[in-house]
Order: sequence, then C-alpha cells, then structure tokens
Amino acid sequence: MKISRRVANIAASPTMEGAMKAKVMRAEGKDVLSFAVGEPDFPTPANIIEAARRAMDEQKTKYTNASGIDELKAAVCDATKRSIGVEYDPSEVCISNGAKHALSNLFGTLLDPGDEVIVLAPYWTSYVDLIKVYDGKPVAVPTSGENDFQPDVNQVADAITDRTIAICINSPNNPTGGVLSEQSIRDLASLVQDRDLVLISDEIYKDILYDGRSHTSPAGLPGMKERTIVIDGVAKSYSMTGWRIGWSLAPAEFSRSMGNLQSQQTSNANSIAQWAAVEALSGPQDSVAQMCQAFQQRRDYIIPALQAIDGIECVMPGGAFYAFPDVSAYLDTELDGYQIQSSQDLANYLLNEVWVSTVHGTAFGAEGYIRLSFACSVEQIQQGVARIEKALTSA
Ligand code: PMP
Ligand code: GLU
Repeated sequence: MKISRRVANIAASPTMEGAMKAKVMRAEGKDVLSFAVGEPDFPTPANIIEAARRAMDEQKTKYTNASGIDELKAAVCDATKRSIGVEYDPSEVCISNGAKHALSNLFGTLLDPGDEVIVLAPYWTSYVDLIKVYDGKPVAVPTSGENDFQPDVNQVADAITDRTIAICINSPNNPTGGVLSEQSIRDLASLVQDRDLVLISDEIYKDILYDGRSHTSPAGLPGMKERTIVIDGVAKSYSMTGWRIGWSLAPAEFSRSMGNLQSQQTSNANSIAQWAAVEALSGPQDSVAQMCQAFQQRRDYIIPALQAIDGIECVMPGGAFYAFPDVSAYLDTELDGYQIQSSQDLANYLLNEVWVSTVHGTAFGAEGYIRLSFACSVEQIQQGVARIEKALTSA
C-alpha cells in the first residue's frame, strides 16, 4: 500500500526499537541486558498510584478539556514557578500525551514546509524526525565533549538563514548528559532575540542534575518568556514513562493553537493519568531527590568503568541518565569476524554477541558513539560493562 513521502522518510524511534528488540530476544530466552531506552527503573511512587486509583473510583474517566484539566494546568504552573521561577497562566499550558507529543504539537503548530530549526548535536533522536514529519528542515550544529557540550554561539549564528524559525535546546541533554551553562543560555537567548527567533527548551531532565549543578531555563531571562516554548513532563522525574503526560509552556495564542491541533488529533491525554500527574507535581517531592541520588551513584560507577575499557573515552555527564562513550577507536576494525564500520555495526555486534542493548550514536547525530541509559540497577551496569569489555578487548 502507498506510504506518504512524509512517513516513508522517517524511521521508527531507535530508542524505542532498541528496547523492543531486547524484549523480543529476552522472550527467546536470551539474557539480554538493555541499556537502550531511557526509562527510570523505579516504581512510580505510591501516592501517585493512589491518586490514579482515586480518580477511577471517582469516575474521572471521561473526556476532559482537550488541552488538559484545569487542576493539572494549575499544578504545572505552580511546579514551574517552584522549579524555574517563572510565572505562567493556565492559558499558556497545553497538556499532552507525553513530552514527545508536546514536541509533535509544537512542530506541527510552528512549522511551514521548508522552515528550518537549528538543533544542537548530539541531539535527542526524535527532534529531527518530528521536524521532518511537519516538512521542516532540521539543521544540526555540533557541540563537543571537549568543550563540555557548550555551543559555539558564532557557529549557531552562522547556521541561521532566512528560513530559520527556531533553535532547539535540551539541557540536561539526552544523549550526552551535558548541562548548558547559564552563560550559554544567555548567549543563545540574545541570539534568539537579535534574530527574532523562537527558543525551544526541552527541560524534561531538569530534576536530574549531579554534583550540585542547577538548571537555568531561558524562559526566566528578560524578554524571553514570550519567545520560548518550554517542554516538560512527568516521565523522568517521577518514573512515570508509561503514563504519558507531558506539557508545553508557550504564549497563550500559540498554546491555544497547539490545543486545537491536539483536539483534532488525539483529544485529551488520559484523564486518570492527568489526575495522577496532579499528585506527582503537588504531592511530596522526596522521591525526586532520592531517584536523582541513585542515578548519581550509578553514574559514578558506570562512567569510570567505561573509561577503564581500552580505547573508550567517556565524558562524565552533569545530568540526565545517559553515558555516551566515544567508541570511534573500534570503528573500521574487525571484532570476532564482524566488520565494524559504524556505531550501528558496533551496537549490533554488542547485542548479538554479548546480549547488551545500546543505541548507536548516529541516531543522535553523532557517529562514533553509543548511548547507554544507566537508569537500571548497579548489578546490571556491572554485568553489562563486563560484557562490553569482553566483547571489545578479547575478540
Ligand atoms: N525529550 C527528551 C530529551 C527525552 O529524552 C524524552 C524521552 N522520554 C522525551 C522528550 C519524551 O518524553 P515523554 O516520555 O514524556 O514523551
Ligand atoms: N526518551 C527516552 C530515550 O531516549 C525514551 C524513549 C523515547 O521516548 O523515544 O530513550
């Protein structure tokens, strides 16, 4: 059957696919260790589960306002004020089926065919495909671990054309764990103001920061709230990946337009999950810090362990829960009869030979790297790194 050019041009999300492949292999009896998908392994906190149960008992099971229930919009505004110090009105909030859906709404509302969005690379894999879905053009500007993943603002400025609409940033970053400094955010914000652009700020990892780092949202800078679209959600901070609640914060008219798109495409996000998200944002917050502490312990184990493998270099992430080792020393080599020409070949080799699932760097615009999510137990990390070391050094 015919498939539109638009959809034929995109692939399945490599992060989701990696997780699926690992599941299939596990069902075949293979003891696969999956570092593919970025998903906290903790249970969703009990108070949140209880709020969902209460919502069902109270028959809060019907359609809601397409852009979300008032209670959740209010809770998002309060939580945003608390975390980034910026005041939002509920009319500036659109609740969606996860942050990914909020991004899809955003690109659908922002882009006309041929419009360009500058994305700092390495980037989260779905930005480029979602931009393409809406006939936009992603333009990658590289950042590097040598420079702590801070962008060279002159290079970003050079990438601006008369079709550029927006710059998309993600701090803490998936896949590098890089955290943009306040200075970088300020420099990007003034560029956005000078060139009359929009700044898209994906802040979904803002609660997962290490070594006392703090988060700066560009929305809090003078003159920036009206040209920033913040993307956030409950998936990572509250271990709620499957509940599918995310949101955007944007000027009211833009938010209303996003809501219109959503009301035609999916209607409201799940009513029960919305009530659970109200509790996540308004209830006790202790579990957020506890999970972050556990991620930091895992980071402190996995990064030195990867660095100890011959030929691997790995920057210590400042936030999020991804290790992004440079494996370029293993490209253009042969390992156990496998020709390793790309990071994808290497990821396939690790999966097939030692049953370790990772995501190849090309998915994130960075050939020569692989991504491992360390949102899993220290035992799994120990076993996984040992397997990788064996596969790379004794082949
Ligand atoms: N942005 C980034 C940077 C992510 O890593 C993810 C993955 N969860 C998302 C957005 C989407 O999150 P959600 O699960 O809420 O759709
Ligand atoms: N964002 C996570 C990741 O990068 C979850 C998967 C996804 O949303 O694509 O692995």
